[in-house]
Amino acid sequence: MPDSLSAYTTLGLGGRAQRVLIATSADELVQSPANSFILAGGSNVVVGDGGYPGTVVLVRNRGVKVREAEAETVTVTVEAGESWDGVVAQAVESGWSGIECLSGIPGSAGATPIQNVGAYGQEVAETITAVRVLDRTTGERLVMGPEECGFAYRASVFKHNDRWLVLSVDFRLARSPESAPVRYGELARALGVEIGDRVPLADARAAVLALRAGKGMVLDPADPDTRSVGSFFTNPVLEAAAYSAFRERAAELGEPPSWPGSGGVVKVSAAWLIDRAGFTKGYGSGTVGISTKHTLALTHRGGGSTAELLDLAREIRDGVKDRFGVTLHPEPVLVNCEL
Ligand SMILES: Cc1cc2nc3c(=O)[nH]c(=O)nc-3n(C[C@H](O)[C@H](O)[C@H](O)COP(=O)(O)OP(=O)(O)OC[C@H]3O[C@@H](n4cnc5c(N)ncnc54)[C@H](O)[C@@H]3O)c2cc1C
Repeated sequence: MPDSLSAYTTLGLGGRAQRVLIATSADELVQSPANSFILAGGSNVVVGDGGYPGTVVLVRNRGVKVREAEAETVTVTVEAGESWDGVVAQAVESGWSGIECLSGIPGSAGATPIQNVGAYGQEVAETITAVRVLDRTTGERLVMGPEECGFAYRASVFKHNDRWLVLSVDFRLARSPESAPVRYGELARALGVEIGDRVPLADARAAVLALRAGKGMVLDPADPDTRSVGSFFTNPVLEAAAYSAFRERAAELGEPPSWPGSGGVVKVSAAWLIDRAGFTKGYGSGTVGISTKHTLALTHRGGGSTAELLDLAREIRDGVKDRFGVTLHPEPVLVNCEL
């Protein structure tokens, strides 16, 4: 088994680990050495060129079980190492509605609560009813309800926190051949429906997969634009005063895309900021660069290093800050490296 972590990350970057172990059951995960780094699909991590100076445990426990079947809903327990997209495909085939817009997201089911995975108007916080974890500080196994998970935009109590090891996740899905109401404009347009309409589950999945593929957001070994962590930066959420200051600095650029949040905050588009600061699709030369299909994806074109990728990320972050006064934050977890 290779101990270069580049073999286990979608960026194809990262140095060696001292040791790599594979856990194929929850019990094996529970026995992970203290201080080991938990790695699943490797689609949301940037690992430093120095690798990891300890043990890396690969999450590979599999299984999807119906825990409760009721007239209108079904609750499924998914082992952490299951492929997330496999779970979505199974749900769509089984007539279980609520995660169809999360089609095509790489990685494992157990990592979905970590950053409250979301896309095209859905996020897992809406369907997760329980997360079974090991509390690594006490050695106890616990069942955490959604209210304890602190779910927020691309965040939860689990993110940037080694305390919890996710063993399995419960999702409650509606028994329906139709999708949840479509909430995302671009998806509604692709499906030829209005916001709030429902469509057959398979149609929602197919439309999302097609939209994602067009942006290089479905892993494809033949498409170098998919050698990424997906979005490298989260969309900044600005307080009212910071939003006004940003609007002044962006005045001549027309109406920037934005989404109002609760408490007066406004979420702005990181892709728009990056593009308007001069970092357009395909930017970069050599081994790393911005995807030719999506401004938010930083890609490894081959033969590069994490140091080069992070130099590019810094250049973009600093360029956006200089132009608009807005600070971008990375979405992936940085392991043994920093921005
Ligand atoms: C092409 C592409 C498109 C993407 N699109 C999206 C998108 O649309 N929406 C979105 O939200 N994300 C997206 N992502 C990011 C990524 O796919 C998700 O965050 C995914 O959930 C990460 O899963 P993983 O198994 O690969 O996690 P990893 O990358 O292996 O791990 C990520 C973090 O979670 C921790 N972790 C993983 N498993 C466990 C566990 N069982 N217990 C405790 N900690 C754990 C790791 O230690 C690490 O800190 C995309 C990535 C790529 C490459």
